[in-house]
Amino acid sequence: MDNIQYEIEEKYLSPYAFKSINTKGRVRPQEPSLYRTEFIRDRDRIIHCKSFRRLKHKTQVFLSPESDHYRTRLTHTLEVMQIARSIARGLRLNEDLVEAISYGHDLGHTPFGHAGERALQDFTHFEHNEQSLRVVEVLENDFLGMNLTYEVKDGILNHRQNGNPSTLEGKVVSLADRIAYINHDIDDAIRAQVLTESDLPRELSEILGHSVHERINNMIVNVINNSKDKPYVKMDEQFDSACSKLRAFLFERVYNDSEPKKEEHKAVEMLKILYQYFLSDINRLPQGYRALNAADCQKVCDYIASMTDSYSIFIFNNIFVPKGWQY
Ligand code: MG
Repeated sequence: MDNIQYEIEEKYLSPYAFKSINTKGRVRPQEPSLYRTEFIRDRDRIIHCKSFRRLKHKTQVFLSPESDHYRTRLTHTLEVMQIARSIARGLRLNEDLVEAISYGHDLGHTPFGHAGERALQDFTHFEHNEQSLRVVEVLENDFLGMNLTYEVKDGILNHRQNGNPSTLEGKVVSLADRIAYINHDIDDAIRAQVLTESDLPRELSEILGHSVHERINNMIVNVINNSKDKPYVKMDEQFDSACSKLRAFLFERVYNDSEPKKEEHKAVEMLKILYQYFLSDINRLPQGYRALNAADCQKVCDYIASMTDSYSIFIFNNIFVPKGWQY
């Protein structure tokens, strides 16, 4: 194999890393690339796909915020990638695999964050991690799919906390996702004046740190120290339990009940109306979605989940809000 990347992996990666030479490959086999491993290729494919660009107009926690400083799905994704790569580098795991999984993990997210997900779940089975897999396997690339490697798809599907990825790199992304959202959602909640740093439970700050920056760093360092030369990737028990408590605190104070979330029920109602509108006559869907080999409810979910916040409002207005007469 002339490709120098394989030598680099062989030389520098830990015995627990997943080396790209061992990939189970793609559904449709392809000629190897001259200078890239299969995981670098997957990363590049995801960065250049349309669903990746749409992440910039999808809600993270605060709906279509007017301030430019709140997280969106895109900046969340970039923060996950940074944290995941920091952990992977510290553990000498495969950074390219980690990067590809990070970029792909939330591609299936609905508009309006988890509120959008709940709207679809009222009608049918919908989970954003399964939808992310569907995006890369079926919907992207003009409904041909992106033909990614097994390990990248496995990491995308299993990125949630209870997932069981087949590589440690997949586990790294799952942890990085949690570290990223806990910290940036606190930061955004402080920005939105829902919280102040001193509202956070003192006993948790004593363990995890007293600012967003301190906590991110401490969590990354804890994962690395606790997982060096081990066949697993995890925080130690004290950190893990403190993180879970901090997450529970966020649910109570930010995710479930806070002033900036008050508009959320409107987003849910709007998406439900759109769902019923398209399901009642499947010919209203764009041609590509109509032609999918899937149940009607799946086609409608695929279309709605693909929308950004702003596009779903645009479509709703177009269909249900009368336009003034123009002459
Ligand atoms: Mg995520």
